[in-house]
Amino acid sequence: MRITAVHVETLELPLKAPFVIASSALAVSPCDLVRVETDEGLVGYGEACPAYEFTGDTLWTVQDVIGEYLAPSVIGKDPCQLEAIVHCWQRELWTVGNQAAQAALEMALWDLQGKALGRPLCDLIGGRTRDGLTEEVTWGWDSPEALAEKTRAMRAEGVTAFKIKVGDLPERDAERVAAVRAAAGPDARLTVDANQGWLDARTAVRAVKLLEPYGIAFVEQPVRMDDLEAARFVRDHVDVPIALDESVRGPREALACVKAGACDIFVVKLMKTGGILNALKVNAIAEAAGISVTMGNMGESSLGLAAHLHVNIALANVTHWDADLPSRPSGHRRDIGSGLRTELRDGVSTMLIPEGAGLGITLDEDAVAAQRVTRRW
Ligand SMILES: [Mg+2]
Repeated sequence: MRITAVHVETLELPLKAPFVIASSALAVSPCDLVRVETDEGLVGYGEACPAYEFTGDTLWTVQDVIGEYLAPSVIGKDPCQLEAIVHCWQRELWTVGNQAAQAALEMALWDLQGKALGRPLCDLIGGRTRDGLTEEVTWGWDSPEALAEKTRAMRAEGVTAFKIKVGDLPERDAERVAAVRAAAGPDARLTVDANQGWLDARTAVRAVKLLEPYGIAFVEQPVRMDDLEAARFVRDHVDVPIALDESVRGPREALACVKAGACDIFVVKLMKTGGILNALKVNAIAEAAGISVTMGNMGESSLGLAAHLHVNIALANVTHWDADLPSRPSGHRRDIGSGLRTELRDGVSTMLIPEGAGLGITLDEDAVAAQRVTRRW
């Protein structure tokens, strides 16, 4: 099987409500949809959801980088030669940054490989380590009253895990977390994510101590991404485990976090690692260092979420699913694919691997066409 063509479409997927966190406010999710065609008629799909504040990627840089650099490097190649292809990007093209572009094209190659072999993607990277994952939803900055109301509605649908965006004034953060805890009940799992928002390490320590009484499983990215000493300081002065997200991009940053003793948990996202192969390497570093992994996302549609789900369920060291389904309140108004599944197990909403080969996602071409955008400058 040989790759014959690569196409990139740029979309903007409006969210049901603006999503506000310490480092950004989004009303739409940027989405680069990649299609890779082969001489055997199979087509693989991949998605980039670029987040400028995480990796510097934008909707348009993804399109340009794939079009000018990455796509020409894969035409004529066998999509199963993933290691060789990614090595070429790193050591022949000397690609700097642009992880979302790499992740999207690599995702499409995994999708192709699974379709060619007739197996779900997770079977290509170790197989299932469990049958399903507890669903979680994420709340951006909002009023305590609104957060409580949304939390009660989700609890009624079986959602038992909530992530709350903090990184605001510590007292305001505490009001939000208190409201979610009261609405979610004592048995719900709560985590918080500051997205680098607290001013410095001492402020972060003060904030975490305000949040500790509400029973949070971990606090994510309390300080700036490039200040691992500050992360270590916070870790040394609070009882809650520290997760790092923005600080952990690929294997090199993961190793630096280990050396600095900066965290207990890595948040792995394909848009940061540059794809699944690098995510597996980050997970290997974590596992060797006694660090667990939670899989997050950047607001992808069902397509990109499916890739995260396959990786999550294939790796025993990944303990936590952290991504909102497009159908949830923080999700998209109109998803571009179908195939993600949930079911209630003992009253708990549980994510299941999509049925079918590769990613297992069927594109909704009408939804793709309706949300396509062209360059504005
Ligand atoms: Mg985060």
